Amino acid sequence: MNTENTAHKKIVILGSTGSIGTQALEVVESYPEQFSVCGLAAGSNAKLLEQQIRKLHPAVAVLYDEAAAADLRDRVKDLDVTVLSGMDGLCELAQMKDADMVLTAVVGMIGIRPTIAAIKAGKDIALANKETLVCAGHIIMPLIREKGVRLLPVDSEHSAIFQSLQGHPKKRVRRIYLTASGGPFRGWSREQMENVQVEDALKHPNWNMGRKITIDSATMVNKGLEVMEAAWLFEQPKEKITVVVHPQSILHSAVEYEDGALIGQMGVPDMKLPIQYAFTYPDRLAMEGNELDLFALSQMTFEKPDLNVFTGLRLGYEAFAAGGSVPTVYNAANERAVALFLDRKIGFLQIPELIGRAMQAHQKVEAPTVEQILAAEQECYEQIASWI
Ligand code: NDP
Ligand code: MG
Repeated sequence: MNTENTAHKKIVILGSTGSIGTQALEVVESYPEQFSVCGLAAGSNAKLLEQQIRKLHPAVAVLYDEAAAADLRDRVKDLDVTVLSGMDGLCELAQMKDADMVLTAVVGMIGIRPTIAAIKAGKDIALANKETLVCAGHIIMPLIREKGVRLLPVDSEHSAIFQSLQGHPKKRVRRIYLTASGGPFRGWSREQMENVQVEDALKHPNWNMGRKITIDSATMVNKGLEVMEAAWLFEQPKEKITVVVHPQSILHSAVEYEDGALIGQMGVPDMKLPIQYAFTYPDRLAMEGNELDLFALSQMTFEKPDLNVFTGLRLGYEAFAAGGSVPTVYNAANERAVALFLDRKIGFLQIPELIGRAMQAHQKVEAPTVEQILAAEQECYEQIASWI
C-alpha cells in the first residue's frame, strides 16, 4: 500500500483498452513523474495492447483470451515484457510485487477475482468495475478493512460522494443524492421506447462510455447498480440513497448532512477527473481543459426518476433489498440481456423484462462465496439462453 501520496505510483490497469482504461493511460502519460504502469490487461484486443506496451513499457501484460495472448506474445517478442493469459494471468498481474495500486476497469463480473487477489496482496484499489461490489460487496468490504488498503471509487457519482464526505463524519449523513443523467430516453413513455434501436440507445447525451454501460444508462439499470455500489462503498442503508435525475450532468452527486448542509461536487462531465483523483487522493493535480464555466451554465434541473417507466431501476432496488445472490442475478441477467439487445436479438424493453424474470426464477443464496456468485451467474446465463 502506498500511503505517501507525493511518491511515484506504479499502477496496474485491468481493462486498459477500454473507455476507462484508455483515459487512465492519458492521465498516466500527462504526469510521467507521478505515475507509471507496471502491468496492463485486456480481454482480446492484441493490437491496441501492443501499442500501449510499446508506449508505456509495462513489465507484464495479460490478455484473457489465450489465442489473442499468443498473438500478442508474437507481436512484442522484440520487447522485454512477459505476456500472460486467462484468469490466472489477471490474478497474477493484480498481485504484482511492484504495483502500488490496481485500477479495475474491466467490464463485468470478470473483475471479482482479480480485485480480491489485489486486495489480498495489499494493493490500493481504484474501482471502476462496479459489478464487483454489486455481486461481492459482502466479501470485498470486510477484506478491504482487514488488509487496511484504500478503495477509491472511479465511478463519477461515487467519486463525487467520496469527495463530499472528506472531512465530515459519516454518521452525520442524512442522505446521499446519487445523480443520474436520465439517458437518451428521459421523459419517454414505455410505448415510445417499444421500438428503440441499438443506435438510439447508444446515443448518450453527456457521457462518452463503453457500449455496455451506455445501454445501462439508457435503461437506468446503471443507476440500480450504482445504488448498490454506493451502499457498499459508503456503508449506508439504501434508504439514505436517493436517485435524482439531473440531465445536465454537472452536479456529479451530493451528500446532505443532518444540519441541512448539502455538499456536492460539480464539474464538466469528464471521467478523467475521477480517474485522476483516485490516483492522487488525497492530493489533487492540475488538469487542463476541463474548467466548468459557471457563467455559461444556464440551468441545473432535478427530477424524480419514473420507476414505472424505468423498471430496470426499480428492479435494482428490489435486488438490493433481497440481497444474497439476487444482485448477482440482476447484474448477470442484465449483462446477457444487453448483449442480446446489442446483437439485435431482443427489443429494448425486453432488457428489464428478462432481468425481472431471471430474479423471479432464482433460488437465493445468502452471503454467497465467489464460487456461488459465479455459479449463479452461469445458471442465469443458461436460463436466459433457454428462454431466447
Ligand atoms: P469498455 O467496454 O470500454 O472496456 C472494457 C475493458 O475490459 C476493455 O479493456 C476490455 O478488453 C476488457 N475486458 C473485457 N473482457 C475482459 C476479460 N475477460 N478479461 C480481461 N479484460 C477484459 O468498458 P468501460 O471502460 O466503459 O467500463 C469498464 C468498467 O467501468 C465497467 O464496469 C463500467 O461499469 C465501469 N464504468 C465505466 C464508465 C465509463 O465512463 N466508461 C463510468 C463509470 C464506470 P478488450 O478491449 O480486449 O475487449
Ligand atoms: Mg456512474
